[in-house]
Amino acid sequence: MAVQWLLVCHGLVTLLVVISFLCGQWPIFQGTFISRIHYFITLGAFDYFQRFVAIVFGSRGTNAIHSVENYCCDRPNPILQSLVVVKEQNVIDFGVIYLTIIAATYYMIVQSSFSYIPGYYISGVHRYTSLLAVGVGILLFLLTSFSDPGTVNAENVSEYLSAYPYDNVIYLEKECSTCKIPKPARSKHCSICDRCVARFDHHCGWMVCLQSLKLLLSPNMNNNCIGERNTRYFLAFLLWHFLLCVYGAVAIAFILAGRLKELQVIHILTVYYGIESSFRSLAPQVAQWLLASYNTQVLLVVFLAIVSLLLAGFFGYHANLCLENTTTNETYKWQDYISWQMKISEAKASAAALKASLGDLSNEKKPPESKWKAFFRRSHLEDVEVVKKNIYDKGYFHNFLEVIFPLSTRRRLLQNKTKSG
Ligand SMILES: [Zn+2]
Ligand SMILES: [Zn+2]
Repeated sequence: MAVQWLLVCHGLVTLLVVISFLCGQWPIFQGTFISRIHYFITLGAFDYFQRFVAIVFGSRGTNAIHSVENYCCDRPNPILQSLVVVKEQNVIDFGVIYLTIIAATYYMIVQSSFSYIPGYYISGVHRYTSLLAVGVGILLFLLTSFSDPGTVNAENVSEYLSAYPYDNVIYLEKECSTCKIPKPARSKHCSICDRCVARFDHHCGWMVCLQSLKLLLSPNMNNNCIGERNTRYFLAFLLWHFLLCVYGAVAIAFILAGRLKELQVIHILTVYYGIESSFRSLAPQVAQWLLASYNTQVLLVVFLAIVSLLLAGFFGYHANLCLENTTTNETYKWQDYISWQMKISEAKASAAALKASLGDLSNEKKPPESKWKAFFRRSHLEDVEVVKKNIYDKGYFHNFLEVIFPLSTRRRLLQNKTKSG
């Protein structure tokens, strides 16, 4: 029993570390222990290591670390460069095989569970509602893939230019060097689609599988970006698939509960096998029976539960971006801006410290800071506060409306009205 608990704890700790490492910088985790673990893994641990080496080996140790750091990070490094490319494209590649996954999962559910519908706890209507729900999911996928994300070109650039002002921090007034048109604030030139996209969020790698189909339908269509005009469909896509997974998991759980009831498993276990009629003694027996008789369904419930958790995370992240009126692209831009500002502040702080220590040499000597204190002192980077000012944030309600009814669309409608009026 102790070994099992050890394994459970090990699994939970691994999950926590992986989530903290991958998602700790997401706005939803700001101020939580997950963001603190993320800081420790990405910066803090290295900082503590550097201080440890400095105490034990002195300047020779720190010099060695700096030369290794310089070799790995500052020179063009194939591993790092490929990481940068992935970050640039932000290929949230969880759905390259979206259609395959959804078709295979639905097929498995139909094969394994439809013979028990209608069941004790589930009505026959779910045979049809499930198909409808999957159909809506595929429709939302197609809508996200084929809708215009807000392609900026010479004809419509004025609409997009008037939609958002330049904040002169992460967006400066300039021209797109490829398209040779003014670059509207919040837009980005997508190198993969080779076009400027308004309120650029990210380029979705998983829409690529439809590239060939798109070429067949219309060679000029190239909709793989998530931008001003299709963020709403993308959000709907994530939310719908989260609900779809929850629906599937709950429906299969009801089927299994129905089988337990219909086959009188509890009655047989307590009466014929003499097992005590309490949750603690029955639960392991029931779990064993389910795994032996309905392993496909149990696996499907686990799979759907895990995917629904992932989708909830993605949806939560993107919904939060929309409520704060920012984008994935802007999150990276602000991160770069803040780390640049931190570097400047740190350089200023060390210059001031050097000045102070030179001053101290002439005055009387202060008692030196304890090595332990110096070791556990927070990093300079943590102390520096850089103000992030998002001028596009107009409060949750207006931000949400802006995603549903994009500003450039509203302007286009207004222009058409005045023209016809
Ligand atoms: Zn461009
Ligand atoms: Zn793109």
